[in-house]
Amino acid sequence: MNDSQANLWSAKQSAELYGIDEWGSGYFGISDNGNVEVRAQGDHGQVAVPLTDIIDGLSQRGLQMPVLLRIENLVDSRLSILNESFAHAIATTGYQGQYRGAFPIKVNQQSHIVEEIARFGERYNHGLEAGSKAELMIAMSVLQNRESLIICNGYKDAEFIDLGLQARKLGFKCIFVLETVAEVKLVIERSRALDVDPIIGVRLKLSTKVDGHWAEDSGDRSLFGLTTKELVEIIDLLRAAELIHSLQLLHFHLGSQIPNIRNIRAGVLEACRYYIEMVGEGAPLSYIDLGGGLAIDYDGTSSVSGHSRNYSVEEYCVDVVEAIAQQLDAHELPHPTIVTESGRATVAHTSVLLFNVLDVGHFNPGPIPEQLPEKLHEQISNLWYTVKGVKLEKLQECYNDVIYYRDQVRDCFFSGEINLRDRAFAENLCLVGLQKIVELIPQMKRIPPELEELPEQLADIYYGNFSVFQSLPDSWAINQVFPVMPIHRLDEKPSRQATIADLTCDCDGKLDKFAGPEGETNTVSLHPINPDEEYYLGVFLVGAYQETLGDLHNLFGDTNVASVRINGDGSLDFVHELHGDSISDVLSYVEYDPQSMFRQFRMAAEQAVRDGRITVSDRQQMLAAYSESLRGYTYFER
Ligand SMILES: *Cc1c(COP(=O)(O)O)cnc(C)c1O
Repeated sequence: MNDSQANLWSAKQSAELYGIDEWGSGYFGISDNGNVEVRAQGDHGQVAVPLTDIIDGLSQRGLQMPVLLRIENLVDSRLSILNESFAHAIATTGYQGQYRGAFPIKVNQQSHIVEEIARFGERYNHGLEAGSKAELMIAMSVLQNRESLIICNGYKDAEFIDLGLQARKLGFKCIFVLETVAEVKLVIERSRALDVDPIIGVRLKLSTKVDGHWAEDSGDRSLFGLTTKELVEIIDLLRAAELIHSLQLLHFHLGSQIPNIRNIRAGVLEACRYYIEMVGEGAPLSYIDLGGGLAIDYDGTSSVSGHSRNYSVEEYCVDVVEAIAQQLDAHELPHPTIVTESGRATVAHTSVLLFNVLDVGHFNPGPIPEQLPEKLHEQISNLWYTVKGVKLEKLQECYNDVIYYRDQVRDCFFSGEINLRDRAFAENLCLVGLQKIVELIPQMKRIPPELEELPEQLADIYYGNFSVFQSLPDSWAINQVFPVMPIHRLDEKPSRQATIADLTCDCDGKLDKFAGPEGETNTVSLHPINPDEEYYLGVFLVGAYQETLGDLHNLFGDTNVASVRINGDGSLDFVHELHGDSISDVLSYVEYDPQSMFRQFRMAAEQAVRDGRITVSDRQQMLAAYSESLRGYTYFER
């Protein structure tokens, strides 16, 4: 493409193409000169920082690609939106209770994130949800505020319960949510032993089913939660132990990323039925905990798909508050404190995975001669005339013929009738034909299924400096779609269609599902790379669930991580930086001893010196290089 064509493209068109104004929720957008920028509330209106400026700053600080970038302001903003939306819904509906959030630590356990949530969330009494002893210990150390809740979910042994009871002694509002009948006996026993009055909740298995990927978490076959029969047993046990006054919270969790607001409302209504019955049984309930499920619009479509949702945070809050008030008012019961454990909705926006493109593989055909060369095999001439004759009116037929003659040529090669060079000539001819077809497909009235897949088969492969398994595990494990796009050159038309491969050389190590305003596609539009300029891509909304699920496929380790904060005047603070795993780190994770590996290598080098294969100074250089590699980054370094 020439410059004048490139100039016909605008940043605005890029924004539409990638849907960034939808999924970006106002946090990400494109500047007029074509850079993706992070936007935050400044002292005097909005401030914006281009991601390329952040990359430059990181590179000056010795942090190379790939980098997981965290923008602290975005966690703060999400906490504000959630808490203020509930406050607004409560105020406008005249609800008598309050809202208390609890961030589930499992969604992003990194200390900087959890500490920031505790610090900023203090103004809203935002608490934490812990699913294990380790997470409870985190909660007890980072929460400063005694009004905030600590919700303990998951299976609890005596040690877990003792820890929670000690938290009670220290003044924390620490609540045990019972998942089994066995647990209640342990809670009764340990509370007596430590002489602490516990606060107890029950996690119920509701019959409400939800749409989306986590449908299995809901309904009768859900792995978690108490059945009605078990609930009755627990009530009886608590009453017998004179602890029924401790039963204060009703908990349910219908699954994560619930796309449909109607499911959420149905769950709340069902839970309220239990609430009313339990109060009738003498439990002085004062909390109703909806668990997680508040969804993110990963594809910007605002639809009931697995990657989006048909409601806003504001609508979620109003629906929940209204549904509870309606049910309880009918029974003249006081309004409880509403608790949610929103994880994804709190942290997904804060992190962006940034990486550079190392190379591009393409299926571009080379030039073909004007005239049919003489002495070509008959099948190759047939292919030649087919390719020359490609036209819109009979595109499917042309496609069939190209493939037919290509296969004939391959057979002839197999039987020795066609030589290596002639086959190469024919393969190129075939690509010319397929490209011609691909260019005509958009003009077809109805695209046959075979041709629909053709553009994808001819798409470029961009090789990215990252590992799907380490940095985007849900993309691989559950086909989660994240927004992926170039972070610069967006005032230039992204003229190539591509899939993205990672460094692992695993056939699953790729991104080939992309979400956009038009729905899911198998390729993404990217720019041709320039030889002496880095090309950077960003994967957005990766702050939830991706960090600790990552694995060491091919021993690619943790990436470099950086946290930044955008100040009110638009300047940038590099708050934290963390170098990713070194090769020596990842080797020790799989039980190698880097020191003894170095010793072995030195012995091999020494032997080579003795055998006269290398000099002593060669040996020195090799040892130095080996030892430097052990300290180096596991990703591709420039
Ligand atoms: C995972 C989980 C959450 C978080 O769900 P999100 O959809 O990320 O908000 C909350 N509560 C419980 C019990 C969970 O298991």
